[in-house]
Amino acid sequence: MLNPRKTHASLRYGPYLFKHNQSPSAPPPHPIKLLKLSADTKNLKFGKLIHAYLIITNRTTKNNALETNSLINFYAKCNELFTARKLFDGMRQRNLVSWSALMTGYLHNGFSFEVIRLLKDMVSGDAVSPNEYIFAIALASCSHSRRVEEGQQCHCYILKSGLVFHQYVRNALLHMYSKCFSFQEVMWIWNLVPGNDVFAYNSVLSGVLENGYLKEGFEVLRRMVSDRVKWDTVTYVNVFGLCACLKDLRLGLQVHGKMLMSDVECDAYVSSAMINMYGKCREALNARRVFDGLRSQNVVLWTAIIAAYFQNGCFEEALNFFSKMKLDGARPNEFTFAVTLNATAGLSAIRLGHLLHACTEKSGFKDYVTVGNALINMYAKSGNIQAANKVFSDMTLRDTITWNAMICGYSHHGLGKEALNVFQEMLVAEEYPNYVTFIGVLSACCHLGLVQEGFCYLNQMKESNIVPGLEHYTCIVGLLSKAGRLDDAQNFMRSMPVKWDVVAWRTLINACHIHRNYGLGKRIAEWVLEMDPNDVGTYMLLSNMYAKAKRWDGVVKIRKLMRDKNLKKEPGVSWIEIRNVAHVFVSEDTKHPEHNEIYEKVKELLTMIKPLGYVPDTGAVLHDVEDEQKDHYLSYHSEKLAIAYGLMKTPSKAPIIVIKNLRMCDDCHLAVKLISKVANRMIIVRDTNRFHHFQEGYCSCADYW
Ligand SMILES: [Zn+2]
Ligand SMILES: [Zn+2]
Repeated sequence: MLNPRKTHASLRYGPYLFKHNQSPSAPPPHPIKLLKLSADTKNLKFGKLIHAYLIITNRTTKNNALETNSLINFYAKCNELFTARKLFDGMRQRNLVSWSALMTGYLHNGFSFEVIRLLKDMVSGDAVSPNEYIFAIALASCSHSRRVEEGQQCHCYILKSGLVFHQYVRNALLHMYSKCFSFQEVMWIWNLVPGNDVFAYNSVLSGVLENGYLKEGFEVLRRMVSDRVKWDTVTYVNVFGLCACLKDLRLGLQVHGKMLMSDVECDAYVSSAMINMYGKCREALNARRVFDGLRSQNVVLWTAIIAAYFQNGCFEEALNFFSKMKLDGARPNEFTFAVTLNATAGLSAIRLGHLLHACTEKSGFKDYVTVGNALINMYAKSGNIQAANKVFSDMTLRDTITWNAMICGYSHHGLGKEALNVFQEMLVAEEYPNYVTFIGVLSACCHLGLVQEGFCYLNQMKESNIVPGLEHYTCIVGLLSKAGRLDDAQNFMRSMPVKWDVVAWRTLINACHIHRNYGLGKRIAEWVLEMDPNDVGTYMLLSNMYAKAKRWDGVVKIRKLMRDKNLKKEPGVSWIEIRNVAHVFVSEDTKHPEHNEIYEKVKELLTMIKPLGYVPDTGAVLHDVEDEQKDHYLSYHSEKLAIAYGLMKTPSKAPIIVIKNLRMCDDCHLAVKLISKVANRMIIVRDTNRFHHFQEGYCSCADYW
């Protein structure tokens, strides 16, 4: 090992080392040693000086393998591959070190193909034959670039040469196969040579985990336990990763226990793997305990804890940790920004989103794909789809998630045509659509009422070997329902071999309600209640249908049933963000300090829209929302209060964005449409199902939601 103090001094005084007036007691350091030093510290300038010195002293002749090899190693490590290659090509006689130095350089710079080409040259022409180190490099390149065919060729050579018994080579082979996923080969090599060390296990575990082959990962773990291999930190990181992917808390706790009893140091990598595991297993509190027990935190650990809270839906806590992190002086990286932006999206906190956007721009992380994707998601979920589109258009690099975020964003806003346009662009850009893409595409078809196209896309999906899931089939139900083909929708549901959930059935019941087919709606609702007798949403839909059909006895019956079962519906809550403060309203709110003024404003707005045809929908208060029946109650539904407050407090052209926890009722929907006209404002309401863009008396959902 190098003495760091010596390293430091040599480098600092480098240029003077070759002066002639050195004291005779200290001989000059050997240039080869200095070259190695420059390579290890990646000090290009200093290394070049030594290269110059070697040229002057005539020690870089074609026969001087030792010097040239050191130079190749130095240039390769400093990522100056062109120079390294020139030196290599100019050598009269190369030895194994020359080959491995250049190959390592190519490997670390990601030129896997060059490594394999060099190996071919070596095997076919040169006087030296590859040894175990050369093969370890070649196999690592095959794993990196997933060139399983070349990897297999190497394997053949290794078998013939007997190198397979080399622990080094065998571990590289195991890693290559587990990464390129040929688990059978992994097992074969495994069984061929007994006595697997911890490195072999780590190789295989990380390989299978990277490919998401969890069952195999579990099998490796089982073998590892029965082989009584001593675990190291890498093993713990991998095994916690496996528990996280499996979402297996019990296993995770056992591994944690094992770690506490071992003498393995719980470093930052292990801790972040543990935090991640607890986060994924929905144990944010345990993640927090691990985090609090740390002696020092770094950005990886902060990001892990923010992510743990985010994954558990605790968006506010996630954001709190982000603030604490900033106070602590840690600098966020692209992953921190991505997860924090996603937490912001969960809260629809657009102001904070803007702030984070500015931060990403200032810190230079904006151009990372993960950050761009999170920005699109944040803007789309916070109601500003134009800003989402702006981020999308500005991105120079995109991945599948980018396209999905934009397509699903548009769909969520009911902008079906735009969503399908982006999908077409995606196909032109030769990006492969995946499972999520088709959810966006099918729900876009649903918004546009494109029944035939919807089925076309469903087939296209199957042709691309993507198995449709419940989400896709639910879109088809929505599609048929919206087109009024209620019988077809019902038949489709009964004919598909899918385990439908309440959401899908509610889609159909809701459609029956909108299309006024109360008979069918009632039958299905009763059937759903047999399956899930405690589903409040279905009770509410049923009650609303009775009400709309003026069957008050039915309404009373449902209410009584709910009372008997002690079922309560969630109260309606809306919130609006004004100058960084979120104002929360519940129906009939009198807690807000300005509630008198707000009520006046609502009254004024309702008087203004009456001449435009607004009649309070007192026939029933519909859907699974509010159950008050007087128009007085209707007038003060939470979203009406929030919108009135927004109109009072924001500048005259600013759009108003309100988030609601339940579905909007018919009465509010009609009122808000008309308010958007009289107030000449864009009003955006996000309810449980989607975004409604109200403008000039119309809503983007075209009154179907
Ligand atoms: Zn309402
Ligand atoms: Zn609407």
